Amino acid sequence: MPQTKVDVREVKLYINGQYVDATSNRLFDVHDPSTGELIARVHEASEADVHDAVMAARRAFEESEWRTMPVKQRCALVRRMGDIMIERKEELARLEALDVGKPYRDALEHEIPRAANNMKFFADFIEQHGSEAFPVDDQFLNYTLYEPVGVAGLITPWNLPFMLTTWKLGPCLATGNTAVIKPAELTPLTVSLLGEIAKEAGIPDGVVNVVQGFGPRSAGEFMTTHPEIDLITFTGETATGKAIMKAGSDTLKRVSFEMGGKAANIVFADADLDQAVSTSIRAAFMNAGQVCLAGSRLLVQRDIYNTFVDKLVEAASRLKIGDPQDPTTNLGPLIGEEHYRKVTGYLEVAAQDGAVLAYGGRRPELPEHLQNGYYLEPTIYTHVSNQMRVCREEIFGPVVVVVPFDTEEEAIQIANDTEYGLNGMLWTSDVKRAHRVAAKIRAGTIWVNCWFVRDLRAPFGGFKKSGIGREGGKFSLEFFTEAKNVCVSL
Ligand code: NAD
Repeated sequence: MPQTKVDVREVKLYINGQYVDATSNRLFDVHDPSTGELIARVHEASEADVHDAVMAARRAFEESEWRTMPVKQRCALVRRMGDIMIERKEELARLEALDVGKPYRDALEHEIPRAANNMKFFADFIEQHGSEAFPVDDQFLNYTLYEPVGVAGLITPWNLPFMLTTWKLGPCLATGNTAVIKPAELTPLTVSLLGEIAKEAGIPDGVVNVVQGFGPRSAGEFMTTHPEIDLITFTGETATGKAIMKAGSDTLKRVSFEMGGKAANIVFADADLDQAVSTSIRAAFMNAGQVCLAGSRLLVQRDIYNTFVDKLVEAASRLKIGDPQDPTTNLGPLIGEEHYRKVTGYLEVAAQDGAVLAYGGRRPELPEHLQNGYYLEPTIYTHVSNQMRVCREEIFGPVVVVVPFDTEEEAIQIANDTEYGLNGMLWTSDVKRAHRVAAKIRAGTIWVNCWFVRDLRAPFGGFKKSGIGREGGKFSLEFFTEAKNVCVSL
């Protein structure tokens, strides 16, 4: 596919309904991970800029009609944001592919529609949500009001920037809060458009603000320490979650954290192997393995271990690595140089620990224009033990380890032998076993004979170091609102 030269964009902050320059006079560069080419120069918000954004959100919360507007009217505007995302889906998908290095087709067919659906789902859900009433002996009636909390800080990672931000923004807005958003510094492009999409939808100025910058001593930390931000919803690394919790403690921020994972994907001998293989390939290599829900730890019953590995290797060899803008590409690059070094560092760790490389582990052969991209072949290690670092640490790249097990109990023990608990998968044709094992795995989402199927009403979040709190449906409603009890004498 021919390479089209991209224009270098200037990305500004979006505060109180308009794009503004940062007062820091600092710009940082963003590169296309598939070519290394400069694609954007981004204004880095100063502390004063973050303050302006927060105060714009505060004023919009206290003074505009946003918070008090009839829920039906507010949700119609949130829904309209979703419609605009669909109207602009090619542009958004193109930018997301450019910025993240993910296949354009995945962005177009999955992430952008899902982002639009995040807005529409929460608009519908909040609009239709009633409340509880508690009558007392025909003398009193208690009923619950769900009121917005105030100014929300949304801090998001680079792996699924637009989709993950809308997952937070939909319920944040539908419940009547205002927002200051900070996308990851590596992928600012699509999220920078959310302010203008809100404006186009008819949402008052100041309700949606976007600041750009880094974490420590930059926009992220300025948000987490700002007294006028009431709640922080964060998705990212566990170590960052710890820093945010500390920073937010002085101002008692409410937090919701969606963090790292190291999911076990358990394949029992009685599973439909072809289905298990094809989904396990997606679970390991979608978005170049840069997915919190990735099935990065495959546990395979010993009776089928060799057959399964053969099929896995064969399926991995069929993945097409290439230009993210090419619609036939399955596997794009890693996000950038630093992350590439981290992921490839694990190849050395795996070799030292005695894991057997069954497939991949090299830079693939690529056309000229992708020579500077951060590409790694889909990589499979076999004969690993769960004590090895490649089994314990979140690699966040196209690297999967395959651990053998003998019994159901052993599979459960290995699956739970991790500090993470975001999700788990299991493949079996025994329905009783499916329920039994699902109940015993300590993780927030368990997929049985499937992966990545999301119902936005369902709770989403992690056990252990994978998260604090849940989002989705009524769980998001609870996070983004103050529940008030009104007691009336009858
Ligand atoms: P990261 O934690 O490095 O960064 C996430 C965001 O936090 C970025 O916007 C970053 O600028 C900001 N940040 C960093 N330090 C900060 C600080 N001290 N104060 C305030 N903000 C700060 O994560 P990442 O590398 O962008 O994303 C990858 C991680 O995200 C992986 O661990 C992955 O598992 C996790 N993730 C989890 C989910 C989930 O739903 N559980 C989804 C996607 C990604």
